[in-house]
Amino acid sequence: ETFEDMCLNASIMKDIAFHQYTTPTPIQAQAMPVALSGRDLLGCAETGSGKTAAFSIPMIQHCLAQPPVRHGDGPLALVLAPTRELAQQIEEEVKAFSRSLDKFHTAIVVGGTNINEQRSELRAGVEVVVATPGRFIDHLQQGNSSLSRVSFVVLDEADRMLDMGFEPQIREVMKNLPKKHQTLLFSATMPEEIEALAQEYLTSPVRVKV
Ligand code: AMP
Repeated sequence: ETFEDMCLNASIMKDIAFHQYTTPTPIQAQAMPVALSGRDLLGCAETGSGKTAAFSIPMIQHCLAQPPVRHGDGPLALVLAPTRELAQQIEEEVKAFSRSLDKFHTAIVVGGTNINEQRSELRAGVEVVVATPGRFIDHLQQGNSSLSRVSFVVLDEADRMLDMGFEPQIREVMKNLPKKHQTLLFSATMPEEIEALAQEYLTSPVRVKV
């Protein structure tokens, strides 16, 4: 499957071409059609496989199909990642594939940075939040963000998030999502704990392994 076969928004296609992504990587060829179809996905893939674009592009496309985000609204899509560095890389990729869209905003919410700046960005209304779990929960508890409009969730490097003790925060997010949402879970390894998490929170997921 090529990017042209995926029926992507023209602005996204332009950005894909601009970044000289000519051919989908194996994880992209397998995961993107599933993600674009609205199904849940359990992806076994490592960093370097191109998994970031594999979820970012369908996530952006999903957001474009939702009613606009207004000031004070919560985000439409949420990506949880284990570390600040990974969250930054993800945010860059999301920005790369939404640069030709007007009015598409992304916020990065990670520890060790100014919480007040993040608060005003979140309150202004963004389509996508890329976050580490602990800091995102802080913002939810302070009323700076909300899960009420989140209909697309990505758990990236889920095994590392569990290793770092983020399971309670992940569960807190997953159990408070609106009923209608799509979940993509990526993990380099598939231990029992990840299978259990997927069993609990994903609905008939398509499994993809590279
Ligand atoms: P990731 O596994 O998401 O961290 O991606 C690894 C690297 O591959 C990143 O530097 C991407 O910019 C690059 N990349 C991802 N998908 C493609 C593609 N289809 N064509 C060329 N480069 C890509």
